[in-house]
Amino acid sequence: MERRYDFLIIGSGIAGLFYALEVAAKNPQAKLAIVTKKAEKDTSTNRAQGGIAAVLSGTDSVEAHINDTLKAGAGLCHRDVVETVVETGPSVIEELVGYGVKFTRVDGRFDLGREGGHSTNRVVHAADLTGREIERALVAACHQKADQIDFYRDHIVLDLITYPSGDREICAGAFVFSEQGRVFDAFYAPVTMLATGGLGQLYFHTTNPKIATGDGVAIAYRAGVSAANLEFVQFHPTTLYTPGRWPFLISEAVRGEGGILKTIDGRRIMENAHPLKDLATRDIVARTIDKELKESGEEYVLLDVTHLDSDHIRKRFPYIYKECLRRGFDIIQRSIPVVPSAHYSCGGVLSTIKGKTELEGLYVAGEVAATGMHGANRLASNSLLEAVVMAKLASEKSTEYFKQNGLPEVIPVENSLHSSLHYPREKVLITHNRRQLQRVMSDFVGIVRTEDRLNLALEKIHRIKDVIEQYYLATPATYGVVELRNMAWVAELMVKSALIRHESRGLHYIEDFPHTDDAYLKDTIIKGKLSKRDQNGITP
Ligand SMILES: Cc1cc2nc3c(=O)[nH]c(=O)nc-3n(C[C@H](O)[C@H](O)[C@H](O)COP(=O)(O)OP(=O)(O)OC[C@H]3O[C@@H](n4cnc5c(N)ncnc54)[C@H](O)[C@@H]3O)c2cc1C
Repeated sequence: MERRYDFLIIGSGIAGLFYALEVAAKNPQAKLAIVTKKAEKDTSTNRAQGGIAAVLSGTDSVEAHINDTLKAGAGLCHRDVVETVVETGPSVIEELVGYGVKFTRVDGRFDLGREGGHSTNRVVHAADLTGREIERALVAACHQKADQIDFYRDHIVLDLITYPSGDREICAGAFVFSEQGRVFDAFYAPVTMLATGGLGQLYFHTTNPKIATGDGVAIAYRAGVSAANLEFVQFHPTTLYTPGRWPFLISEAVRGEGGILKTIDGRRIMENAHPLKDLATRDIVARTIDKELKESGEEYVLLDVTHLDSDHIRKRFPYIYKECLRRGFDIIQRSIPVVPSAHYSCGGVLSTIKGKTELEGLYVAGEVAATGMHGANRLASNSLLEAVVMAKLASEKSTEYFKQNGLPEVIPVENSLHSSLHYPREKVLITHNRRQLQRVMSDFVGIVRTEDRLNLALEKIHRIKDVIEQYYLATPATYGVVELRNMAWVAELMVKSALIRHESRGLHYIEDFPHTDDAYLKDTIIKGKLSKRDQNGITP
């Protein structure tokens, strides 16, 4: 079936929803579709605990937030992008409040928390369920705009629809598949917003929900758009260690409030690892824990809050307290067993902070994008901030584009979709290959890398990619196949990125090149076929 909209939005996390609300307000006559592959709230946004960083107190300053961000980014942040995001921060927080988000307040003022790498308290939060509150409010606000916004749940985007016009390539929407309804649709729109989130599911241990399979990067790259900085994957240092169960994140704010990392026999881990000790940035903490676990052979370390005021802990972290208790750990009484897990991708689809990509009509926002905001390492609570600022700026930029461009009646589509609906009889091939890919990424492309292990990973990924590509062409019709195909494409791009950075910087640590090298003070860019510029980056 064919559907026509003015704006097609892929993803219902903070980036997609905020973008939809801004676009709807700016274009009251426009019709928007939000397509999401599961339920509206199956997003990373919904799981965010800590909060959003913004300069909102008299003792803080824009310059201080910029400096903290640049310091974490280890030389690779784009200063102009950081300035834009940090300066726009306070106004987007007010906009979120306007859309109904209820942040925690004390005496009418925002209660500002502190997290690792921040020089002061600047994290706006809704207790320790900030993402859930944002998602609730934005979904509700979008539903109130039902005259303009249609939701398509359980609809997975397979690929973008593109067509040539003179020497330009233009995005005209996306091919979408619903496994439940067993239908393929072509969604046509002059503006497509890709807000598909991250890629944590490429790893065995991750804090990310099941939807985070890197689809956006793979989809954009197949359409010719370059990918940037994919070697920089942030591992969250403290996920609750409960083997066989869904990993539960213990927010960095817990260390911000005085939590201390210890070995099983009680030795403080961060004591001599960094001057900021337990408040050091995530990469340093995760690598220190990784080293500790490799040396000791233990499976976890401990995060201790038993010395802190128990009423304060229960009040400040009600969700963490209850969830740990539900899993058998009373954190007031005993230390919490934790391990590092894949958490956030600093790299993604190459774009400007206004969401513009190399493909005309295609915009991106949120974790899927690589704008230069995070450089080689993201500062805690800066990702929700970047997502919402970017969604706002992209709504302005794409509205300008929308007002000047439309789609022809008949679109000369070059790429087409398989019309046949085949179903694989055996799903075991998919689950086996997915697990194998996660193992390869965790074992060979994890916190500490070597060239040999990366080359081995590339070989194994190519094999999985070949199998799945054959399988996809023959039987495209399950989400499992679609996601595994995207995961294999992204894994390849990630390893290629890691292999060309012959230095260690931020989140990329490679034993063969353990030091930073200023010859690599550039973004890593895996050029897509639309890349015309001679980008100032490291390219293969
Ligand atoms: C446990 C956890 C805690 C976090 N805590 C914080 C924090 O405190 N502060 C902070 O700043 N950041 C935090 N982050 C990071 C932050 O939450 C994410 O970076 C941010 O929410 C990403 O938003 P997004 O809109 O880009 O993507 P998401 O919220 O992940 O939404 C992606 C959407 O795209 C859809 N989608 C994906 N692929 C397809 C496809 N092929 N077809 C159709 N739909 C598709 C998904 O279904 C989903 O609706 C945390 C992340 C996690 C996992």
